[in-house]
Amino acid sequence: MGLKIWLGNGLVDQEDAKISVFDRSFLYGDGVFEGIRVYGGKIFKHRDHLIRLYESAKVICLPVPMERDEMAAAVEQTVAANDIDDGYIRLIISRGIGDLGLDPFVCKDGKVIIIADSIQLYPEALYEKGMKIVSVPSVRNHPLSCPPQVKSMNYLNNIMAKIEATQAGAGEGIMYNHLGYVAEATGDNVFIVKNGVIYTPPVQAGSLDGITRRVVMQLAEKEKIKVVEKNLTRFDLYVADELFLTGTAAEVIGCVEMDGRVVGDGAPGSVTKQLRKLFFEYARS
Ligand code: PMP
Repeated sequence: MGLKIWLGNGLVDQEDAKISVFDRSFLYGDGVFEGIRVYGGKIFKHRDHLIRLYESAKVICLPVPMERDEMAAAVEQTVAANDIDDGYIRLIISRGIGDLGLDPFVCKDGKVIIIADSIQLYPEALYEKGMKIVSVPSVRNHPLSCPPQVKSMNYLNNIMAKIEATQAGAGEGIMYNHLGYVAEATGDNVFIVKNGVIYTPPVQAGSLDGITRRVVMQLAEKEKIKVVEKNLTRFDLYVADELFLTGTAAEVIGCVEMDGRVVGDGAPGSVTKQLRKLFFEYARS
């Protein structure tokens, strides 16, 4: 049986969940979105995701056609209708239908789309073994272009980087900003551990303000592990004791090879493993 999809003002069958070829998200990637996990029937960090969604929408001058609590109820209704206990939600706001011109202000009605489904990003074995990653040539969007903090539907910058990582035989790609500092991975935030201290680039280095990132930083601090936000270079990643990525879909994943250099002792490190465990306990609490 197909899924029930939220489209516009209510739920429809998957076969009927169709959007117009004049929809701006299709024509221009003109919209914003969120990826949200459901753990044990609970929508993880629901409020934080909605805040980020509405902020992204504000930055691109996209009026969201629902108040935040109405949106929260629509997400909950979609999860319930699909009987999702552990899964993944894709929440999309498109600018809606316009003409073939670029002017966004001809669009009068933004469109809300909510998909709730199951997810398995990487096989469990990869989390145990650790992932191989590479630096990619595509530079993360300049903050004065579409700011990387906006989770917009235009992901070509990240898709270019993903192509480069995949073609290099790696599971993820490290993207740098226009100054040469680490920004983020194609769909995840980046962390290293060096001499017992956790380091991660500040969001201003050109990353999404990841919700998993925030949770992991709080969990580490609770364990009295120092977390420092600072600009990181390729050098820092090469000589790190541990390297891991965080994201809604990837959760917490250790990286064991970076541009052909072995990270640490070549297996996910103890801090990475500890944070992964704490993350699960927290997500299911
Ligand atoms: N950076 C990018 C580019 C992303 O798309 C994502 C989400 N997949 C993240 C970082 C991680 O953010 P979050 O933990 O909120 O999922």
